[in-house]
Amino acid sequence: MSSPKKQPQKPTCKRIAVIPGDGIGQEVIPQAVKVIQASGADVEFADFDWGADRYLRDSTTVPPGGFAMLGRDFDAVLVGAFGDPRVKSNIHAKEILLGMRFQMDLYANVRPVRLLEAALCPLKGIEPKDVDFVVIRENTEGVYTDAGGVFKPGTPDEIAIQEDINTRMGVERIIRYAFEFCRTHTKLDGSPRAKVLMCDKSNAMTHAGGLWQRVFQEVSREYPQITPQHMYVDALCLQMVRDPRQFDVVVTNNMFGDIITDLAAGLQGGLGMAASGNIHPGKTSMFEPVHGSAPPIAGKNVANPFGAILTAAMMLAHLGMTREARKIEAAVLEAVRQKKTTEDVGGRLGTREAGEWVADRVSRG
Ligand code: ATP
Repeated sequence: MSSPKKQPQKPTCKRIAVIPGDGIGQEVIPQAVKVIQASGADVEFADFDWGADRYLRDSTTVPPGGFAMLGRDFDAVLVGAFGDPRVKSNIHAKEILLGMRFQMDLYANVRPVRLLEAALCPLKGIEPKDVDFVVIRENTEGVYTDAGGVFKPGTPDEIAIQEDINTRMGVERIIRYAFEFCRTHTKLDGSPRAKVLMCDKSNAMTHAGGLWQRVFQEVSREYPQITPQHMYVDALCLQMVRDPRQFDVVVTNNMFGDIITDLAAGLQGGLGMAASGNIHPGKTSMFEPVHGSAPPIAGKNVANPFGAILTAAMMLAHLGMTREARKIEAAVLEAVRQKKTTEDVGGRLGTREAGEWVADRVSRG
């Protein structure tokens, strides 16, 4: 028999764990929740106070069994951001956010890059149809495993080693995920996705790069209808600002994915517009905006909630509620067109007001 917690009240009702976290996470996530409610999605929420305040209060980062509980009792997790200047070590962020990614094995970080309105893109002559690609970032390995150490710290002889961990299994599953994503998703205009580009630095990082190269070639042979492509990460950065039209699905490692998606967010109107999902197919997955806790603007009602709201739409689509997701995306698009936005993307509204505008639009949509 399953526990009562596991069973939602109605069979279709999805249970969402909500963890706003720190800084602007506490401002944007309530807006995302409000918009989900306005969409009529059949979900119920449970709030968690994991973050800097809790850590400073009772030294808890993740309560015992916390990740197992999320995986067992919830269909998805909606997260804000972690990071607070009062916690210099950033230990809570590491344990909560990286803990979720690693211990729940959320190996695919899916970051769509879409331009809603030409005015938001800093590049000349680029239209919304020109920016519609997806970065699939490996999320559980690489340099983020924190393997390594420091020898003779604080001396002139100090040695710091940061290991880059790449397993055959980890590399193969993320590359396969990218090809499957390409095979099963269309672009916003309805045309099929057709290209998977692997981004690495295999000319300099030969050992890890060699593994990625070999696996990419092997997996690509299973998908003859998809064009495999390759670019070094430095060349990709240049190409992304020269001509973003050429990208379709990009797959890369943990660190390069982190970096290039900040650059890619610049094409969309900034970090406040970018959404992401941390996914393990078939398991409870976690959704968070690309931006962090942004301490300089926290608590001022100026943070753009659209990244979080688009993240919520992504979560609903993942849970099978595509109608509600589309409604939310359409309302955000309309808000951008009518400049019912925060200042970072050209409007005059505060975080709450922008969220309320979208929620109102969604409830009438
Ligand atoms: P991390 O290290 O996790 O990336 P961070 O706090 O250093 O986090 P971000 O939160 O990603 O960095 O933000 C960097 C800057 O980008 C912020 O200080 C802010 O100026 C801008 N920014 C980020 N998110 C938003 C947002 N939602 N709305 C408006 N501006 C934002």
